[in-house]
Amino acid sequence: MNGKLYGVGLGPGDPSLMTLRAVEAIAEADVVAYHSARHGRSIARSIAAKHLRADHVEEPLVYPLTTETTDHPGGYRGAMEEFYAEAAARLAVHLDAGRTVAVLAEGDPLFYGSYMHMHKRLADRYETEVIPGVTSVSAAAARLGTPLAEGEEVLTILPGTLPEEELTARLASTDSAVVMKLGRTFPSVRRALEGAGRLADARYVERATMEGERLAALADVDPESVPYFSVAVLPSRVDVERPTAGEGACGEVVVVGTGPAGPLWLTPETRGALAAADDLVGYTTYLDRVPTRPGQRRHGSDNRVEAERAEFALQLALRGRRVAVVSGGDPGIFAMATAVLEAACEEAYAHVPVRVLPGVTAAHAAAARAGAPLGHDFATISLSDRLKPWEVIAERLRAAASADLVLALYNPGSRSRTWQVGKARDLLLEHRAPDTPVVVARDVGGSGERVRVVRLGELDPAEVDMRTVLLVGSSQTRAVRRGDGGDGEEVVWTPRRYPEA
Ligand code: SAH
Repeated sequence: MNGKLYGVGLGPGDPSLMTLRAVEAIAEADVVAYHSARHGRSIARSIAAKHLRADHVEEPLVYPLTTETTDHPGGYRGAMEEFYAEAAARLAVHLDAGRTVAVLAEGDPLFYGSYMHMHKRLADRYETEVIPGVTSVSAAAARLGTPLAEGEEVLTILPGTLPEEELTARLASTDSAVVMKLGRTFPSVRRALEGAGRLADARYVERATMEGERLAALADVDPESVPYFSVAVLPSRVDVERPTAGEGACGEVVVVGTGPAGPLWLTPETRGALAAADDLVGYTTYLDRVPTRPGQRRHGSDNRVEAERAEFALQLALRGRRVAVVSGGDPGIFAMATAVLEAACEEAYAHVPVRVLPGVTAAHAAAARAGAPLGHDFATISLSDRLKPWEVIAERLRAAASADLVLALYNPGSRSRTWQVGKARDLLLEHRAPDTPVVVARDVGGSGERVRVVRLGELDPAEVDMRTVLLVGSSQTRAVRRGDGGDGEEVVWTPRRYPEA
């Protein structure tokens, strides 16, 4: 009969954090295998040392290389592949001979561990049991003595080997985080934390529960001193006394857009800014898209009091609060950013830091749904005559139409503004053919989404409301039914090449 394969999690370092089951498995094993670096001793073996007997056959699986430089024809991957295949073959010899093999794994065997490479090659052929272990994530949090993730907080676990920009985006958008595999990656992880605005919260844990353990504020750590066995931790933000700017000092205003609908179109940067804010200010509809957080204050208001809302936000910031002003879509397109900047240019607020973060605007989401109608030059015009006279709107529509631009029309109508779409259509028909494709996109990304393609000549104002954006094609925009026999969905696009180019 074949022997049994054990993947034995040993916990983070302190042998007393091994599980009872791990000890049992080692006791039962004939062969104890462990990975180790070429010249280093095996950390896994040292954790389990007390449980190894003289009659255990030991199988050190020694990595052929330590850095990613090799003369193997398949490069680093090729060299590792060959090593894992050989190692698995060595274990298979024991298993075939009926010997039970325990593969030791520091931490948890299925969590960024080398055991996995044996598991993938052997578990389908031999009876296998994986014994979970305490991970470095839990160990680091325990040693720091700080909650890691509470309630609805999201904990993100990241390998420090990711590109710095990817790390920054992930760190910006999460609540808590643990970054593994530091060592040489430390400088880029530190820059990513800084870029995400989280450096001040970051803790550093080296060799958690092992000999030589070190805890520090990450910002204070000398990059030269960081070994591989260390992690960066962003602990839970719930109930953390945030350092307020203090008496006389200033907070800041961040103007953000939630995108046209749900969280899929919220950028990581905006997600992070929303989570970091002390106060949220905005139109209630947009605030409702933002998940609630304990300790955060919300100041919802009607859509029409932009100037007051902007001043209110700046006043909060003057008192040391971090304020996020929330718009839908992109905050700079027919939204709050201009109102905030207008107020911020007044003397009283001249020193309040203001940042505007980009968001996905409605026209882009609508265009993507329909195909690529904005693939060539286009103009964006609001049909609302609340803030500018209709004559200006009409003049711009004529100019854009005669320039053969594709048009993205925001605020086309509402319950009280019902005639603008009909007027705009008639104006455009002076320059555009009646069969010009028009994308009528309502509540894109939301539960009431409806995206249709109609012809300019038959554009019906009754089908347009506050949640609708219109994309009017140029002379070049095409609407084509794809698929069998041409009865599939219609896709709309504007070629990048203009005739005679
Ligand atoms: N800042 C927003 C625009 C605010 S003006 C942005 O960048 O998208 C409000 C107009 O945006 C609405 O009348 C409508 O024309 C458009 N709009 C916003 N969200 C939309 C959505 N999910 N679907 C269709 N149109 C939308």
